[in-house]
Amino acid sequence: MTPFRYVKVASPAEAIARISGHPDARFVAGATTLLDLMKLSVETPDLLIDINHIGLDRIVVDDRGLHIGAQVLNTDLAEHPAVKERWTVLSQAILAGASTQLRNMATAAGNLLQGNRCGYFRDTAMPCNRRKLGSGCGALGEQAGVEGINRYCAVLGTSPSCIAAHPSDMCVALVALDAQVRITGPNGERQVPAQEFFRLPGDSPQIQTVLRHDELIVGIDVPPPHAGARSIYLKVRDRTSYAYALTSAGVVLTRNRDGTIGHVGIALGGVGSVPWRAPGAEAVLRGKAPSDALFRKAAAAAFEGAVPYQYNGFKIALGQDTLIRVLNDLVHPGADNAEEVAGEQS
Ligand SMILES: Cc1cc2nc3c(=O)[nH]c(=O)nc-3n(C[C@H](O)[C@H](O)[C@H](O)COP(=O)(O)OP(=O)(O)OC[C@H]3O[C@@H](n4cnc5c(N)ncnc54)[C@H](O)[C@@H]3O)c2cc1C
Ligand code: SF4
Repeated sequence: MTPFRYVKVASPAEAIARISGHPDARFVAGATTLLDLMKLSVETPDLLIDINHIGLDRIVVDDRGLHIGAQVLNTDLAEHPAVKERWTVLSQAILAGASTQLRNMATAAGNLLQGNRCGYFRDTAMPCNRRKLGSGCGALGEQAGVEGINRYCAVLGTSPSCIAAHPSDMCVALVALDAQVRITGPNGERQVPAQEFFRLPGDSPQIQTVLRHDELIVGIDVPPPHAGARSIYLKVRDRTSYAYALTSAGVVLTRNRDGTIGHVGIALGGVGSVPWRAPGAEAVLRGKAPSDALFRKAAAAAFEGAVPYQYNGFKIALGQDTLIRVLNDLVHPGADNAEEVAGEQS
């Protein structure tokens, strides 16, 4: 491990002052991602700036919605009574991620910035354009002429330089809920819709979000729920705990008086290079009476343009089934559905 210095800061302003002009410094929150990457020499900061005591650990609910401080712990957010009741999809998504111990340390901003879990990214002996631009993509295996281990990779939003899937569960719910990320930096504050916070890999996969190095996430704002909205997060994975999504769907939905679908927000996990909003599927559903045929049509629209790789083609059918299951559970109240297991259980 490369030697590094460590400082604690007491305010967002001090955090920004410390990181400005210091390209090899990193903020550290719960450390559940960053320390792993440092142990693997994927990240080699020379300075860690501890931002756990800068007053960003509050959850506020008011008439403008839910306001989540950047350093709120994943457990505290998922277990907050108002979040469980009014933003159910967010609570379910967080509880479907990682493990209790990790959620007790992990923060909201750290979750947004957890990067990717591709095995080649985490192994400095392997090619990876995200870690070292121009070195190639181990998951695509272009250098060896055969594809690498890409079972967990994305089928939507990929590029010839990177096919990694975005791993977060929480971010899928935030995208479905039209959340905004609040950011501060040397040039003041700005807000970015969660959906636009993440960047597609394109030809610069090493840049994963719109956050600049000298900017700090200060919070996440989620608008009030639409009247009568129900929401569900469903995650399909290899084991019931400690496993990333093969596929997932976070859906928020309201019904009109005549039973047709009113507002609908759909985001998918495990299948996209970023938490994947599905506006095509939403358009298919909006204003229509729910039916199996309609849900199948919406699921097909959600995966329009999907590109399978050697070992992850199953994600297209599985992802569609995951979305159809959530839609069915939402229009048939009484369904209780936070989890689904594919393959072997641990
Ligand atoms: C074994 C394991 C299994 C996991 N399984 C899942 C899973 O199933 N689903 C899932 O969604 N996640 C999963 N995770 C990821 C976990 O959710 C993240 O590690 C966690 O959310 C990161 O939060 P943290 O506070 O520990 O971040 P840190 O590790 O402290 O930081 C992560 C990154 O965020 C930056 N950062 C942190 N806060 C800020 C801020 N306010 N402003 C700017 N930059 C900031 C840091 O500089 C760093 O680059 C898993 C992790 C592990 C280790
Ligand atoms: S998929 Fe992306 S993260 Fe994985 S090896 Fe290829 S470039 Fe690296």
